[in-house]
Amino acid sequence: MLVVQKYGGTSVGDLDRIANVANRVAQTKKSGNRVVVVVSAMSGETNKLISYAEHFSKTPSNVEMDLLLSSGERVTSALLSIALQEMGFKARAMTGRQAGILTDEIHTSARIEEINTCALKKLLDDDTIIVVAGFQGISKDGNVTTLGRGGSDLTAVAIAGALEADLCEIYTDVDGVYTTDPRIEPKARKLEKISYDEMLELASMGAKVLQNRSVELAKKLDVNLVTRSSFNDNEGTLITKEENIMEKPVVSGIALDKNQARVSIVNCEDKPGIAAEFFGVLAEKNINVDMIVQTNSHDGKTDLDFTIPKNELESTKAALDGYKNITEAIEYDTDISKVSIVGVGMKSHTGVASSAFKALAKENINIKMISTSEIKISMVIDEKYSELAVRTLHEVYNLDK
Ligand code: ADP
Ligand code: ASP
Ligand code: MG
Repeated sequence: MLVVQKYGGTSVGDLDRIANVANRVAQTKKSGNRVVVVVSAMSGETNKLISYAEHFSKTPSNVEMDLLLSSGERVTSALLSIALQEMGFKARAMTGRQAGILTDEIHTSARIEEINTCALKKLLDDDTIIVVAGFQGISKDGNVTTLGRGGSDLTAVAIAGALEADLCEIYTDVDGVYTTDPRIEPKARKLEKISYDEMLELASMGAKVLQNRSVELAKKLDVNLVTRSSFNDNEGTLITKEENIMEKPVVSGIALDKNQARVSIVNCEDKPGIAAEFFGVLAEKNINVDMIVQTNSHDGKTDLDFTIPKNELESTKAALDGYKNITEAIEYDTDISKVSIVGVGMKSHTGVASSAFKALAKENINIKMISTSEIKISMVIDEKYSELAVRTLHEVYNLDK
């Protein structure tokens, strides 16, 4: 078999843990597999590098940020390769560029455009274990790019897809995908299987166990994706096509995203082209807008509310600054969070939303914004109620059973 294994930050968090990963990789190799390993930076390392940059500038250049941030993954890839070589294996550490990962030029959230697999295939044919530094690639103009937070998952899936690997295993600090973050709700249950679409919604709505773009790509390329723990041998969770899942629960999981901020454009002129103007300028800056709500027009004025990632607050403020004259006020609220309920069964069941609203009302939690898709309901609430809301909803849908 050809296996791609990705080890996250906690799994390579110190030298002993890198040694543990080396042993796991060695086992996989000894069982007769060809192995490509993708590693994250040691846990906390990427945040540390960001804080170093922020010491000098609130808005550091994204090109420099990418060079800086990509270094964390390089350290772990080299160390793991050295550890494997010392155990007697042929191993080779590679940066994103060496692994042939070509991206667009959107620094700090680049998209993979192509993987040139020549170098990878040559090393695999030579029976070498490849250890790729995750989260990074190279743009056409030769600059290092990174793939967005959590992007090593994407590196692993993209390589698995390009090499047509039999299996892509994402090793982390929990032994699979749970009905909700087990750190928030200890009664959360591990799922044996989950569909790509549900996993994509959960990941997009804040369940960071998998990066959302990695799930999107896994679905597109039909990658056999499994998440499991690097600290035990428990069975993980298989992320697969909906038709491979026999029992379809109405609700599969609850996600929480505390990294959102709400923007309210108060009393702006209600005329054609207004939304196009606001969201156009945000799109130009690559700011990810979600949950757009426009209220009914009154006296030719309207309110426009939407959410953005908290870390894009400064660039959003800068982008909207020039539009102050066509609105009464632009307000920003960072003390919010977004709770989402996800399940394919919602397509065919009614009443899912109303039970959520009732349960939150009973706990006196006010819902500030609502948005829905075919398999998801998201609600914006005060951040201080985040954990209570997750546990309440987990119970309402009997997810611990
Ligand atoms: P890594 O560093 O290995 O990439 P992450 O920290 O990115 O790991 O993701 C793993 C974490 O995701 C877990 O520790 C857990 O707290 C969190 N998490 C959030 N939602 C879920 C969920 N539904 N199932 C499992 N873990 C979840
Ligand atoms: N080190 C990067 C991050 O912390 C990428 C990753 O771990 O997947 O976001
Ligand atoms: Mg991660």
